[in-house]
Amino acid sequence: MNQEPVTSLKGIGEKTGALFRKLGIETVDDLPHDYPRGYDAYEPPTLIEAAREGEILAVSGALLKTASVRRFKQVELTLASVKDKSGVMQLTWYHMPYLRATLKMGKRFVFRGKVVKKGNRLEMEQPEIFSPEDYERVMGSMRPVYGQTKGLGNKAIVRAMEEAFAHHEIEQEYLPEELRSRYELAEYNYALEHIHFPADRAELLTARKRLVFDEFFFFLMAVRRLKEKRQDQRSAFVMHHVEAVDELEVHLPYALTAAQKRTLTEVQRDLESGLVMNRLVQGDVGSGKTVIAILALLQAAYNGFQGALMAPTEVLARQHFESMQELFERWEVTKQVVLVTGSMTAKEKREAYRKISSHEADIIVGTHALIQENVHYDKLALVITDEQHRFGVGQREAFGQKGAESLKSLADIDTTTLPHVLVMSATPIPRTLAIILYGDLDISVIDEMPVGRLPIKNCVVDTGYRDRAYQFLAKELHAGHQAYVICPMVEASEMIEAENVLDYTKLLRERLPGARIEYLHGRMKGKEKNKIMEAFASGEIQILVSTTVVEVGVNVPNATVIMIENAERFGLAQLHQLRGRVGRGKSQSYCIMVNGSDQDGTQERLDILNRSNDGFYIASEDLKLRGPGDFFGMRQSGDLEFRLADIFTDADLLKTVAREVDDLLKSDPELAASEHEALKERMERYVSQGYEKLNL
Ligand code: ADP
Ligand code: MG
Repeated sequence: MNQEPVTSLKGIGEKTGALFRKLGIETVDDLPHDYPRGYDAYEPPTLIEAAREGEILAVSGALLKTASVRRFKQVELTLASVKDKSGVMQLTWYHMPYLRATLKMGKRFVFRGKVVKKGNRLEMEQPEIFSPEDYERVMGSMRPVYGQTKGLGNKAIVRAMEEAFAHHEIEQEYLPEELRSRYELAEYNYALEHIHFPADRAELLTARKRLVFDEFFFFLMAVRRLKEKRQDQRSAFVMHHVEAVDELEVHLPYALTAAQKRTLTEVQRDLESGLVMNRLVQGDVGSGKTVIAILALLQAAYNGFQGALMAPTEVLARQHFESMQELFERWEVTKQVVLVTGSMTAKEKREAYRKISSHEADIIVGTHALIQENVHYDKLALVITDEQHRFGVGQREAFGQKGAESLKSLADIDTTTLPHVLVMSATPIPRTLAIILYGDLDISVIDEMPVGRLPIKNCVVDTGYRDRAYQFLAKELHAGHQAYVICPMVEASEMIEAENVLDYTKLLRERLPGARIEYLHGRMKGKEKNKIMEAFASGEIQILVSTTVVEVGVNVPNATVIMIENAERFGLAQLHQLRGRVGRGKSQSYCIMVNGSDQDGTQERLDILNRSNDGFYIASEDLKLRGPGDFFGMRQSGDLEFRLADIFTDADLLKTVAREVDDLLKSDPELAASEHEALKERMERYVSQGYEKLNL
């Protein structure tokens, strides 16, 4: 492993190094482990008449005229048009006037780039230029496309990647030979290199299969480790049943659904059983998981213990905190709740830590700031993670295990006092997969929505429908309701054509004068975000224009409309989560998905959401549409922490690996055999990295 900083590579100075750090890449070894997001395949040229908006493709033809250069505002545009036997296409480049010398009338080129719509005709922006012979040479090959950041584009990353491979130290193969040959798995170093630079699709698939195998393998080994540590452990926090909790349940403003009741009973039985609880509560968005968490936390509190609830985002943590405070006030519960998040001031944090260590606080709510070193609990008996799929196994272990030697960043609770663990997730995974992925947990399923909920009404529209959508928003606001508008981007970008939060807010304020409209995005400061979220929750803000920061968990039942711009840019799972922000109260709710593309297939994909509000159905239809092994499309966002693996499309491999891990650990639980030496060393490295950096 080359643990030198990336700046040790040729061509990477301090400035570029800082940009790489922004992408989470610090050492030379981190580079090969930053897998491409996708690939550009150099397909044979397309006929111009067959080009569709949004596609990246090549066209081959002759220039009608020598290129011309024009100035438009601050930008120098180079314009040309290329003709093939089927038609003509306009081409535009920015800031590249020198191209005129190359692009002469009558000369033949292959242009490759993204097809965009300007007015009502299609053109290509910033295409790459090839001579027909050069294109012939690259045709069929694939080029990696990486996650990028402003100032660090794909070309620079590819160059760094090549440099890194030039200095890469060969890693020892660690999977037993027999296993590799049985499943036809590529050698590790081969796979690592070819996931970046495959000559063709077949090589890519070979490389990917091996790395997906490894991802599952180590993940499941870690899950098994957790299971061994936690299963059948006697609990130091045996709870008695609490009357007051039963009473609260009765006084809730609604009756629990049968599924909620069953789940609550299972949780309470665990807490009272004498053994340490390890339970997953799985339930679709809006099924009412939070109340289960609150009642369990209260049971812990009434037993004289502490309980903690960890949420993946600050917005969500704060919301849980506030709704709990409000409920407790209303129910006259005297238990104390405190909040711990990263954006609190040092003074606020100190005060919170003090309340926690002195046990003034009975219930602690926060982000992963909860598992920081300087948080010292007193009789922490129950830990709950909300939206579990957003956390890694590492965090799960850290939180459940505060005090284990291997994870230094944790407070000093000794291992004989493992807290009860409850994890909550809305990821719609089939039970068979859930049993594998959460092998260390018992599972409760909330498979029923609260009564009286009207199903969300959906529509998929094109951008021409916007005016009517705004009228509809106005009508809903008039009825006293609120709305979300989701845009994929924070601000305008030259490279990506998609709606952005800042401009959209301006536009919407013009279109709906008098409406109270604000925006929210991930780059805002924590304090600002809180202010906006609070104002939206209290109804002060009527329309919240936001990026996907509101994707998980946010609960403002008075919001009845969510309008999602560029819906085609989101994965179906993500859209389903976003849609889950509405339909949380008694009123009819609506989801308007604006399809900003007329590419084939997007409509079909969005129609799945249009048809159904059921997370399981959506996931399975999505899979059918993509087909197993189709990973060029959008990745399911938010599904556990795999980099390459997709639990749906790779479900078969996952099951295989689960079997192999079981067999291996049965035959050699300590990995003591000599053929497992390299594997053991790898596993230790994986664990010591706190699982976060899965540098396999
Ligand atoms: P999720 O499972 O997505 O976390 P929440 O726990 O946030 O869902 O619940 C969504 C909304 O439904 C909240 O406003 C909550 O108060 C409400 N709710 C929960 N359970 C019920 C129920 N049994 N009947 C009616 N409303 C409920
Ligand atoms: Mg929730």
